[in-house]
Amino acid sequence: MSAYDLIIRNGQIVTAESTFQGDIAIKSGKIAEVSVGKSIEAAAQKEIDANGLHVFPGLIDTHVHFNEPGRSEWEGLETGSKSLAAGGVTSFVDMPLNSAPPVINKENLQLKKDLAEQKAIVNPYYWGGLVPENIANLKELHENGVLGFKAFVSPSGIEDFNSADDETIYKGMTEIASFGSILGVHAESTVICDQLAKKKQSEGKTSARDFVESRPIISEIEAVRRLISYAELTGCKLHIVHASSRKVVQEIEAAKKRGVDVTVETCAHYLSLTVKDMEEKGGLAKCCPPLRDQEEVDDLWVAVANGEVDVVSSDHSPAPAELKQIPNGNFFKGWGGISGCQSTINVMLTEGYQKRNIPLEKIVALTATNPAKLFGLYPNKGTIAEGSDADIAIVNLDESFVLKNEDLFYRHQHSPYVGKTFTGKVTTTIVNGEVVFENGKVTAKTELIQA
Ligand SMILES: [Zn+2]
Repeated sequence: MSAYDLIIRNGQIVTAESTFQGDIAIKSGKIAEVSVGKSIEAAAQKEIDANGLHVFPGLIDTHVHFNEPGRSEWEGLETGSKSLAAGGVTSFVDMPLNSAPPVINKENLQLKKDLAEQKAIVNPYYWGGLVPENIANLKELHENGVLGFKAFVSPSGIEDFNSADDETIYKGMTEIASFGSILGVHAESTVICDQLAKKKQSEGKTSARDFVESRPIISEIEAVRRLISYAELTGCKLHIVHASSRKVVQEIEAAKKRGVDVTVETCAHYLSLTVKDMEEKGGLAKCCPPLRDQEEVDDLWVAVANGEVDVVSSDHSPAPAELKQIPNGNFFKGWGGISGCQSTINVMLTEGYQKRNIPLEKIVALTATNPAKLFGLYPNKGTIAEGSDADIAIVNLDESFVLKNEDLFYRHQHSPYVGKTFTGKVTTTIVNGEVVFENGKVTAKTELIQA
């Protein structure tokens, strides 16, 4: 009988603290042994030779919209989680909206949990929603396992998920603080975006650039400042999602320095795509907050390098191709949302590690360790250490490839990243000790139910 289920040999193991050569032994879904600089003597049922490869903790994508139940024709827990596996992601936190019914009470949460347990091939976790109607349901959602709450201070774009007015934010934060959870907020100013959109459209200005100018960085800053005030008032942990600019990040950095419990996420697309991509790719590159210009992308990388950003996620928000059409070139029409959750690690390795010398340890911190710490999953998840869950991504840092539509595991095989050349490719993804993706193929043994 083999001592271990699986041994990964001779890889360069990367954690948020350091990179070292070693072996990893896995038993019963856990990391049983990590050897530094010498090989593990025992045998295993399966061995992976990681010589020349890097071994990362599996990524944790804290921001995806898999749309199931209710809008699974847009994506789904099976296709979405297969895409994550192909991108080295071993856990996700699904947003409460775009699925229907939205996760605003425990019954709706249970509907999603039941489906995820059947269909997801990586570890599923959940956000609950904060909307004006559900303050009384927040505690039950927390008790039933949501890792945090999500609110919008501008329209969500989805009819059954109302945006939170200031009173809802205040009452919601007071309640969420009472049981020590966290509020994640989509921070754009409704007033600023509405007024500018009306002005642009009344003047017949509807290009990609016009759309971007109608949702300026100052609109994010206005909302962030207001939310920080409520966080200071209520003592609630605040997490600003998808900051599109370092100027937004710096507002949060200043608040952190005076002791406010606030963190910030940005997304792979704000670190790699620009308004030019919107002009070239149309609706595929439309999202809110919108993409910015190259100087903003470069500046956001400075924030990453300086440790001002806490989390990098995908905000994977897919839709069928017909919804991504921009009718008559009018960017105020057409669904906003980037399909990207398979490519986060490729963006980080290509744009960060290769082009800007961002250390691998920092990439691990932003995509695995910090998310695990922020949402209470550490040290079971987010690191490679004895006793942790065996969630691992093995990566060939030297392999380059051009992303093609047919490489994508999404329900709809499109993405603004298609056609990009990436350096650094996931070769193997392991979830709870099980190889779920290897050499371009999903290998999860999980019996998947067809949607
Ligand atoms: Zn989102």
